[in-house]
Amino acid sequence: MSKPQSIIEARAALESGALTPASLVKQTLENIDQWEESLNAFIETLPEEAQAQAAATSQPGRLAGIPIAIKDIICTVEGHTTAGSKILQNFQALFDATVVKRLKREGAIIIGKTNCDEFAMGASNEYSAYGPVKNPWDLSRVPGGSSGGSAAAVASGEVLAALGSDTGGSIRLPASFCGVVGLKPTYGRVSRFGVIAYASSFDQVGPITRTVKDAALLLEILAGQDDFDATTSAEPVDSYVNECGRDIKGLTIGLPQEYFGEEVHHEVVATVSKAIKQLEALGAKTKKISLPLMSAAVPTYYLLVKAEASSNLARYDGLRFGQVDVPSKKLLEQYLQTRGKYFGPEVKRSILMGTYVLSAGYGEAWYKQASRVRTLIRREFQAALKDVDIIAGPVAAEVAFPLGSKAADPLQMYLADLLTGPASVAGLPAMSVPCGFTNGLPVGLQLIAPHFQEELLFRVGHAYEQATDWHQQRPKLPSAENK
Ligand code: GLN
Repeated sequence: MSKPQSIIEARAALESGALTPASLVKQTLENIDQWEESLNAFIETLPEEAQAQAAATSQPGRLAGIPIAIKDIICTVEGHTTAGSKILQNFQALFDATVVKRLKREGAIIIGKTNCDEFAMGASNEYSAYGPVKNPWDLSRVPGGSSGGSAAAVASGEVLAALGSDTGGSIRLPASFCGVVGLKPTYGRVSRFGVIAYASSFDQVGPITRTVKDAALLLEILAGQDDFDATTSAEPVDSYVNECGRDIKGLTIGLPQEYFGEEVHHEVVATVSKAIKQLEALGAKTKKISLPLMSAAVPTYYLLVKAEASSNLARYDGLRFGQVDVPSKKLLEQYLQTRGKYFGPEVKRSILMGTYVLSAGYGEAWYKQASRVRTLIRREFQAALKDVDIIAGPVAAEVAFPLGSKAADPLQMYLADLLTGPASVAGLPAMSVPCGFTNGLPVGLQLIAPHFQEELLFRVGHAYEQATDWHQQRPKLPSAENK
């Protein structure tokens, strides 16, 4: 049979007997073999473990027999969990993250760990200690970060689905650059237990898939309260799959003028505007709105996340976590040498910046002030979402940029979060849906919903997707000379 193009298709093929879990795992490993030399999307694949899981698949789970790739920031008992860092190169988790447990409970097979920026800090996947990931649409360009391996693996067809994590855009940006669906849930919707922390009051795990319905299915499985993460919400989890197929007549879509400003490339604006016309043709109303505090979102975001990161990363000291090969009789020396040797430049920058904004005399001016602005940004979004049902705009100001073009300029790299950071600061759910190409490179439409109303993202995203065929476009396998 031909290759399934979505989890839902694969499940149908498994149920009819056209595929078996073992044949699907074999097919997936072959896909990975064909692409991996070009992409570097995986830090580790788990062929034996996956084959064993396939042989043991029997239960009628909603993901029974479906291979899923996991960003290497998420703990799995199989293989290693490196967070894209040398400091955790040999780390083997003793337990599965709650999100992995939930996937396995439905019969999913963990096929491998995907490459990412070190500790999820970055927007291009070039800050991974295991080499950059390439964009399957153009191998000279970045896939976006930090979940670049997950997005490239799904876009190329190596796998049908992957998990990513998003602190300020790390699911949506690579999904947009690679032409796949990426969902960042409401903060508190999905458990962070067993997910290596970057900024604990921002981090969320979410699905990266080919179709909106697959993302809905995965969120249904991932979401919900978890005794091991006190920030998870008791809000009931809706049947998101059932939202895919409801029409969007009468919904009002807010278009913030700041998302269409002059920083955003005119071809991206044109492509996204066309997508919005399509939503109007499907019966939605649109309304121009303004979110003036958006210009403060990126600085607010970076002050807060780097502060949290500097504290979260204190545990990698070469004793409790991290490499232990730096012998020293003095404890402090050992800390300094381990961290100096094994952390990469963006992680070091984060620790320095975060420590600075929290230090005595500066904490009030920077960290506390940013916390106040965060509240204002959140209120501004909440007020806007009283007048409209959902907000739409581009995910990114540009398409996938060339490898090396921003890596040496941290400020340019931070500005890649211009349009994804605001929803993160506000804790809102947001999704990237493929909405066209400019110069052969994918563009993503960003949808942002009120807190805990992910169902609106699925309803609107699915309606749009069904009216277009962007999600069916696939990059071509590079020929031998182009790898
Ligand atoms: N580029 C942003 C950062 O480095 C976002 C990363 C993320 O969402 N994990 O903070």
